[in-house]
Amino acid sequence: MSRIAYVNGRYVRHAEAAVHIEDRGYQFADGVYEVCEVWRGQIVDERRHGDRLERSLRELSIRMPMTRAALSQVMREVLRRNRVRSGFVYLQVTRGVARRDHFFPSPDTPPALVVTARNVAPETGDRGAETGVGVITVPENRWDRVDIKTVGLLPNVLAKQKAKEAGAKEAWFVDADGFVTEGGSTNAWIVTKDNTLVTRPAEHGILKGITRQVVLDMIARNGLSFDERPFTVKEAKEAKEAFITAASTLVMPVVRIDDTAIGNGYPGELSRELRQQFHDVSEMDPV
Ligand code: PLP
Repeated sequence: MSRIAYVNGRYVRHAEAAVHIEDRGYQFADGVYEVCEVWRGQIVDERRHGDRLERSLRELSIRMPMTRAALSQVMREVLRRNRVRSGFVYLQVTRGVARRDHFFPSPDTPPALVVTARNVAPETGDRGAETGVGVITVPENRWDRVDIKTVGLLPNVLAKQKAKEAGAKEAWFVDADGFVTEGGSTNAWIVTKDNTLVTRPAEHGILKGITRQVVLDMIARNGLSFDERPFTVKEAKEAKEAFITAASTLVMPVVRIDDTAIGNGYPGELSRELRQQFHDVSEMDPV
């Protein structure tokens, strides 16, 4: 069975799926995206991803390519056509196709929409979580609107590649004051020695992760101690536990930061517990 993608109104075979060379996503990274987890035939946190998509588009003055309801239908159709029960659905909206020019094209230029889906067995992530992952730290070098989920991800790509070459899974960006902002494609968390969960406020300098929000809901639900504040690399290295969150990794224990083992070098108890509870707390809608 060949994979099927949705591209600007048509369902096409992956191998033949293409966008125009003057798509502004290609020319200027002038677009935004979302990734939703699909778990056992359900889309996870679709409402929140939709809200964030609308916000990202609003911030860039790009129109929604279609109504939320229609977009939801397209996502489901792509999932059905690819027979995805567990994995991910990816969607990308750009400012559309126009002759290359930095200025916005005329307002009647339709935004471009691509939706793809991929099967990934949930056990893949779970196996990784059993051993945990390493992260490296790199200087923050991104623009200050990383709260918008744009496809302009070059610093993230370079940082993550550096992590891979160092035998790690993620790179944590560190701001000029020594505080961790977030990972290349994840939010960053620590658990202090007195079992307080700490993550940076999402008003500025990071993407407001949907998975981060679900963890906040779990914290409230379980009455856990929580401090929303920046933390330094030094504090993280001395923490009891650390973990990262994203729709693609859920709650993933961090067992090493640069060359320092975290805690006893194994996934922490709280990180594992939060991962286990995740799908009890996140919103689920059938495909
Ligand atoms: N931070 C960055 C830079 C990301 O790219 C992502 C996800 O792609 C996240 C955080 C986590 O966001 P979410 O939990 O919504 O997947």
